[in-house]
Amino acid sequence: MADTQLMQAMQVVRRGAPLEPMRLAVPAPGPTELLLRVHACGVCRTDLHVADGDLTEGKLPVVPGHEIVGRVAALGAQVEGFAIDQRVGVPWLGRTCGACHYCRHGRENLCDAARFTGYHLDGGYAQYALADARYCFALPDGYDDAHAAPLLCAGLIGYRALVLAGDAKRLGLYGFGAAAHIVAQVARYQGREVYAFTRDGDDAAQRLALKLGAAWAGASGQRPPEPLDAAILFAPVGALVPAALAATAKGATVVCAGIHMSEIPAFPYALLWGERTLRSVANLTRRDGVEFLRLAPRVPVATEVETFRLDQANEALGRLRAGRINGAAVLLPD
Ligand SMILES: [Zn+2]
Ligand SMILES: [Zn+2]
Repeated sequence: MADTQLMQAMQVVRRGAPLEPMRLAVPAPGPTELLLRVHACGVCRTDLHVADGDLTEGKLPVVPGHEIVGRVAALGAQVEGFAIDQRVGVPWLGRTCGACHYCRHGRENLCDAARFTGYHLDGGYAQYALADARYCFALPDGYDDAHAAPLLCAGLIGYRALVLAGDAKRLGLYGFGAAAHIVAQVARYQGREVYAFTRDGDDAAQRLALKLGAAWAGASGQRPPEPLDAAILFAPVGALVPAALAATAKGATVVCAGIHMSEIPAFPYALLWGERTLRSVANLTRRDGVEFLRLAPRVPVATEVETFRLDQANEALGRLRAGRINGAAVLLPD
C-alpha cells in the first residue's frame, strides 16, 4: 500500500461540527464509475443541512458536495462514451435502482433506493471524486469550471421547480441565492415577470435580482405590487409558506424547492382556497439535467460566483448560513 495516492478532502465527521480537513486515499473507480479530478464544486444549501445534521440518512463520515465539475482521470471497465481528460458534471442524483415504479415511469427522482452525491456517496469537497458515469452530464462550453458548477444543482433543481410552477406569468422567488439567481434569468427568457423576496434589508440580493431583470425586489414579509401566479420557495423557512400563499392570486402554485424546511405554521384555509396548489420538488431526473444544460447557454444563464479554496469550505458554509453569499459559492480544490 506504500504507493497509495492521497488527496485533500473536507469531511463531515460529526453532524453539527465544522468539516474536518483530511488526507484520504484516492479511490479506484468501480466498473461503471469515473474517477474525476475535481476542478470546482458548488456549495449548496443542502450541504449545510448535511453538515448541521438536519438530514441524517446519509453516511458518516462523508465528503459533501454535489455540484462537481471535474475531468476524467480513470474509467471503470464497463464505462462507455467517456474519455480520459473529458470534462463532466456530477449532480445530486448519484444512482437509482432503475427497476421500481418511479424509475420506470420517468420519476427516478423519487426512487426509494436513490443514492445521492455528497450524502450517501462521497462528493466533491475533495481533489478527486468517484461518480457513476450513467448519472454524469456533459457540460456546455462557454462556462469555465467555477461558473459551470452552480448549474448542477442550483440550476437543475431550480429548473425543475420552475417547470412545476406551471405557465405562471408573475413568478415570486423567495430567497434570492444560487438557485433563484439562475431561475430568474430562465424565467425572464421565457417572458415571465420575476418578483424577488429576500431577507429584510438584504440590499445585495435585491440589487442582484433587479440587475437580472426582476420587476420588483423586496423583503419576504412584503406584498408584491400585483398578486403572484406562482411562487418558488428556496429559503428553508416554513413561515414563508403562508406568506407566499397570501401573496398569490387564485389558481396559483406555491413550490417548496428545498430538501429541508423549518416547521410550517398553521394558517387559515382561506390562504389555500381558490384552487391554490402547495407542493414540493424533490431531487432531479437525468432528463431535467439534459434539458436544463441544453437551455442554459441559450438564455444565456450567467452565474455569479464567489470562489473559495478547498480548505476554506467551513468559511463558505458559514457565509451561506448567514446569507452572505452573492449568487453561488464554489470551492476550487485545485
Ligand atoms: Zn428506483
Ligand atoms: Zn444542491
